[in-house]
Amino acid sequence: MKRLYLLCLICCMFLPAAGMADGKEQLPQKVVYLTFDDGPKKATPELLEILDELDVPATFFLLGYQVKAFPEYTRMIYERGDTIACHTMDHSSGGIKDEPEQLKLVFRRFIQEMQAVLGEDFTADLFRFPGGGTSYPYKTKKMVTDLGWSWFDWNAMTRDTYEDMDAKAVFASVRKTTGGRDVVILLAHDGKKNTRLALPEIVQYYRDGGYTFRKLSSSMEERRILSRCPAHMHLPDVGKEGEQLLLESLEMRKNP
Ligand SMILES: [Zn+2]
Repeated sequence: MKRLYLLCLICCMFLPAAGMADGKEQLPQKVVYLTFDDGPKKATPELLEILDELDVPATFFLLGYQVKAFPEYTRMIYERGDTIACHTMDHSSGGIKDEPEQLKLVFRRFIQEMQAVLGEDFTADLFRFPGGGTSYPYKTKKMVTDLGWSWFDWNAMTRDTYEDMDAKAVFASVRKTTGGRDVVILLAHDGKKNTRLALPEIVQYYRDGGYTFRKLSSSMEERRILSRCPAHMHLPDVGKEGEQLLLESLEMRKNP
């Protein structure tokens, strides 16, 4: 009898744990979110074509004035099924830093601009601070979530806005800043040729590493995945070297 009990105990150790039948076990362990900022740009169709060929989804943090300039490309992003998120109207940060209330206006104008292009059904609730969240006061960050939006930084980056970065260097930066973490939000920019050229290698790198490609959203499923990602709400955990790169990038963005 004792032996039977022991056998059952051992068997149970290898059975799925209680509660796994609710779908939790289906969430991938390793996930990468490709994010492209500052678009749409003249070269957006080229980027979309590459993403199509590679068969990966993406998240676009768009600027309202760029949407106004390139409505057709905005529609192309939308029709591909990628996530469209807000990156302010014009990449300015001063107003919302000093007066968080201004975020209401920023979000309203962004949604209006998007609805003019995509129709009244369009809505958004994801935001990325120009230059990243680290340089904004707590009150501004809190205002974002108080208004029902989520904001995202990144924990890996292409450094594709640096002048000396060719495709090879972009790929090296992706590898270095990814650093083997399970949940990765990769920062890249629309309109950057170095990133477009590096994308096949970047995607292959993540595929070889067993990552699933997903797009950002505020769904419960995504929240569960993102709860394992330190890039969600505070300074990304990217190790000493990666953190230095991030700080450099923030400096560069503050003084372009
Ligand atoms: Zn930006």
